[in-house]
Amino acid sequence: MKTELVIDLEAEKQEILKRYRALLRASKSTLQKGDKKEIRKAFDMALESHKDMRRKSGEPYIYHPIAVAQIAAEEIGLGTTSIVCALLHDVVEDTDITLEDIEREFGKKTAKIIDGLTKISGVFDTNSSLQAENFRKMLLTLADDVRVILIKLADRLHNMRTMDFMPRHKQLKIASETIYLYAPLAHRLGLYAIKSELEDLSMKYLDPDTYKFIAKKLNEKKAERALFIKKFVEPIDEIVHEQGLVADVYGRPKSIHSIWNKMKKKNIPFEEVYDLFAIRIILDSAYENEKADCWKAYSIVTDLYRPNPDRLRDWVSSPKGNGYESLHTTVMGPRGQWVEVQIRTQRMNEIAEKGFAAHWKYKESSNDNGLDQWIQKVREMLSNPEANALDFLDDFKMNLFSDEIFIFTPKGALIQLPLGATALDFAFEIHTGVGATCIGAKVNHKLVPISYKLQNGDQVEIITSNKQTPKEDWLNIVVTAKAKSKIKSSLKEEKRKIADNGKEILERKLKSLKITYNTDNLQKLSYFFKLPSTQELFVNVALGKIELKDIKEYLSSEKEIEHRGPERPENLSVDGIKNKIKGGDSDILLIGEDMQRIDYTLAACCNPIPGDDVFGFITVSDGIKIHRTNCPNAAQLMANYGYRVVKAKWNKQQELTFLTGLRIVGIDDVGLINNITRVISTDFKVNMRSITVDTNEGIFEGSIMIFVNDTEHLENLIKNLLKVRGVTGVTRFDA
Ligand code: MN
Repeated sequence: MKTELVIDLEAEKQEILKRYRALLRASKSTLQKGDKKEIRKAFDMALESHKDMRRKSGEPYIYHPIAVAQIAAEEIGLGTTSIVCALLHDVVEDTDITLEDIEREFGKKTAKIIDGLTKISGVFDTNSSLQAENFRKMLLTLADDVRVILIKLADRLHNMRTMDFMPRHKQLKIASETIYLYAPLAHRLGLYAIKSELEDLSMKYLDPDTYKFIAKKLNEKKAERALFIKKFVEPIDEIVHEQGLVADVYGRPKSIHSIWNKMKKKNIPFEEVYDLFAIRIILDSAYENEKADCWKAYSIVTDLYRPNPDRLRDWVSSPKGNGYESLHTTVMGPRGQWVEVQIRTQRMNEIAEKGFAAHWKYKESSNDNGLDQWIQKVREMLSNPEANALDFLDDFKMNLFSDEIFIFTPKGALIQLPLGATALDFAFEIHTGVGATCIGAKVNHKLVPISYKLQNGDQVEIITSNKQTPKEDWLNIVVTAKAKSKIKSSLKEEKRKIADNGKEILERKLKSLKITYNTDNLQKLSYFFKLPSTQELFVNVALGKIELKDIKEYLSSEKEIEHRGPERPENLSVDGIKNKIKGGDSDILLIGEDMQRIDYTLAACCNPIPGDDVFGFITVSDGIKIHRTNCPNAAQLMANYGYRVVKAKWNKQQELTFLTGLRIVGIDDVGLINNITRVISTDFKVNMRSITVDTNEGIFEGSIMIFVNDTEHLENLIKNLLKVRGVTGVTRFDA
């Protein structure tokens, strides 16, 4: 039976206009004379050109550009040009409208931004190095116009908000890219609200069970929490106003993703996460009183509640690199519970939520602009032609996530470095030449090695020697992308010289053995010595690691092969494997059934078991690995190597068992271990592979590796273990 979709076109037209008017209201504060006309013109053009298109949900396509424009205006605080560009961001790619049309109607600037947006869309569709390369290009546009990135983020946010109608494998891919690239980017640009929402939405698709679990838990205690916050805030509110400050004091819940991160990092159950919310004090202060008012509020809070001296963060005196300014402290609440309090002014709050755009708005009054510095650094990195695109991506990602420390030069200048930076990083930050010849440093006048980890506020003087050159192990010492890329290019240069030398030696050796010096033989030799390239072969020869007798050994093995016929490793090309899977009934790898036909194994990093949401990943030399979609490595794999991912699901009729791990926490009691193992082996007849137990001052912590059939089996077991007297928590863990 065919069901006909009946669309009320008149009602749709009304809805489109309603959404358009909401957009105009959202952008009202930035509109100047003539802007409204400009936006209307863009809206009309977008409406006309997308008129026959619909989204996966069946809705008119125009809802999407309107929503993206609304996010740009309302949540990022962008102005008319950006709203126009957001409305038109998909027309050049998806319709007949050309860039020339845009330029004629809206001018050069708009055309340039839309060109940037068109170029970076679909960026992640092909192979891995291309993805990274394109990501690099996308960042290069930062140098041109950061609005391209901001609108792209608005576009991604709306797509993530409306992903329910997408097929599962697309949801996974888009969510992976979002958590791997877009959320860190939003973070670095200071868009905290958008970053948190992107993280939560990614988690909703990548790890739906945990997401739902935490959301449910949060909801259960909502009323209780609201009451606690009210009681906590009341006395602060009162005294703040008594002392003549104008302030808004309220509690704000933390994101599901950040709560989950905390649970994983500290290995604690939901119940033990104390900061499910933060208290915010937002002051209405004149610019010149900001700092004094923040400290005044701090003093009021800490008079009422005892502060934890280790948890004071002053980003008012030294703002973060992305522009974030705020005073954070953690105090003891009335019920013996730690509570985080964030104190800042309205100006600082706007920067905290809207990031870069707000920064522009306040630029004149802001004394230091960390973001300008950051864009400058990105430019430096990108302009280094030696840098490998994938390395760059890793380094970049690290830079996105890290926090900063501030280091003083001997003359008192301030240098900003990521947390964990060493004396050697500092040396490269000063000058490449200083870094390359660094042999040690004086930190606060005391001599330290180059690997010394710098602390916030250190004063550092670098000691150099012209006999020094960069070493391979320096790569393990430095953390900044700049130092890494400089060391790598210097090592590469060094290696090239050694290889040239080795090449000459090898040529002579082969001649003496009457082997022809050609590419084919060089490749056979590299393969025999298990080296990844002929360059490595030359290096090994130059360093004396491969000698004449080794090459003779190769010769005799060659002869043997001729007798047996050539033995080549099976060609594990990605397409080959994909075709093999398609040879079955669908393009989905059925785990269990295809075992004979296709070579796959379960990944050791996440130990998937039947019932887990999984995907297959085609490795370079080890067949297909099955990972859980919430595996710690999943996002990275899917975002970087989308073309190697194959859909996979469990074949139900299985009598196999799978290895998984349980962490059991409890209060040590006579017979506790006995009771646990009894439930596992006698009641559930589950085989254990290993059990390790730690007891510390009455607290019991055990890790048990067991073989189970599937997730249902595992959940039942966990339920029953929780019933054992003394057990307080049971969680599954990855390898
Ligand atoms: Mn779009």
